[in-house]
Amino acid sequence: MKVRRDNYFSGMPLSRDEALRRDTATLERLRTHPQTRVLAVWRSQHLIASRAAPAPVWHEGDEAFRLFAEATNWVLLGMRGEAAHFAVDVSHIDEPAAASPFAGRGEFADLRTISPLLPRGDGSIMAYARGLMYWHSRHRFCGVCGSPTESTQGGHVRRCTNADCGVSHFPRTDPAVIMLVTYGDYCLLGRQSSWPAGMHSTLAGFVEPGESLEEAVAREIKEESGVDVERPEYHSSQPWPFPSSIMLGFRAEARSMDLDLDNDELETAAWFHRDQLLASPEDDRFRLPRKISIARRLIDDWLFNRDD
Ligand SMILES: [Zn+2]
Repeated sequence: MKVRRDNYFSGMPLSRDEALRRDTATLERLRTHPQTRVLAVWRSQHLIASRAAPAPVWHEGDEAFRLFAEATNWVLLGMRGEAAHFAVDVSHIDEPAAASPFAGRGEFADLRTISPLLPRGDGSIMAYARGLMYWHSRHRFCGVCGSPTESTQGGHVRRCTNADCGVSHFPRTDPAVIMLVTYGDYCLLGRQSSWPAGMHSTLAGFVEPGESLEEAVAREIKEESGVDVERPEYHSSQPWPFPSSIMLGFRAEARSMDLDLDNDELETAAWFHRDQLLASPEDDRFRLPRKISIARRLIDDWLFNRDD
């Protein structure tokens, strides 16, 4: 039986109604609909009621329309039943936690810090909203002619305002490969100096133009560790909006355990026996990546033979 591969941040529960994005009249009507729900995004952070039991704060119905009527960027996330779900960007407010309409409603928090405690459906909606808002914030000008762009099609296209140009720009997702390299009962993990103390994880890197995913896997492993691998096999993927990636997970078997770590990308990389990982102290001496990450999924699936 095929293993179900539902990584955290995937499985977004709203229906992505592509036709609705182009239906301007219906979109306008939905903005004032009593069932409509609006999620505020502030500088890539989300409003949550509490850190102890985080859940997104939705502004609803008439209240939402009044509060955000002036907001220029309403982005349609999708529908759940009859209820339209939008995100709005409130990054222009300097101290939102103290400002209306957010005072007393909670605090803004980075999705990375709260996601282990979030219900999965909420986490995937927030990741989606974060990714879209980040794209809007970085594409305010046309890359072809330099004129301002404007949000259209429910926030899923930015169009150049220069009539002589008029190019449409679409949300981008940057593909990155992430891979668990094994050799018998050993796997290869590295660490970057910027990571939490003791954390070791799988190798990863961005796919380059003109390169297949398998080639990117082999290249990144070679560059970061000096290891040659057999043909990599796809495992699963994960949306990773920090800020705009999709992580494409692979498994690869090394041809040998010889390492050549002469590079700037990693602080260190080493082979770890599966017993070492099973006995991980999960503290500053050694810890595995967080459970929401595809890196941890790749490691755990190998450790517990979930693929076999
Ligand atoms: Zn243009």
